[in-house]
Amino acid sequence: MPRRTIDIAFPGAKVAVFLDGCFWHGCPQHATSPKANADWWRQKLDRNVARDRETNEHLVEAGWTVLRFWEHQNPATVAADVAAAVAVARAARLRRP
Ligand SMILES: [Zn+2]
Repeated sequence: MPRRTIDIAFPGAKVAVFLDGCFWHGCPQHATSPKANADWWRQKLDRNVARDRETNEHLVEAGWTVLRFWEHQNPATVAADVAAAVAVARAARLRRP
């Protein structure tokens, strides 16, 4: 099931990382629409996507950097991107008293 909590948080750098499941979060490459109860699923999955957007907005308003990755992405690439974003965010915060 989709979760609303941050998957990985770096509170010092204010970087939030989400690892989104392709099905639950509507990955453009792998999203599938179940045939049974199609309307129910459509609404449910659309709600998930809308909620992701809302979560992003709240975090950005609170000064966080939000990173979202799909479950199909290469974990090594994801880890490198996260490390780079945390380094950038930490440097930015150090410049600000
Ligand atoms: Zn995918």
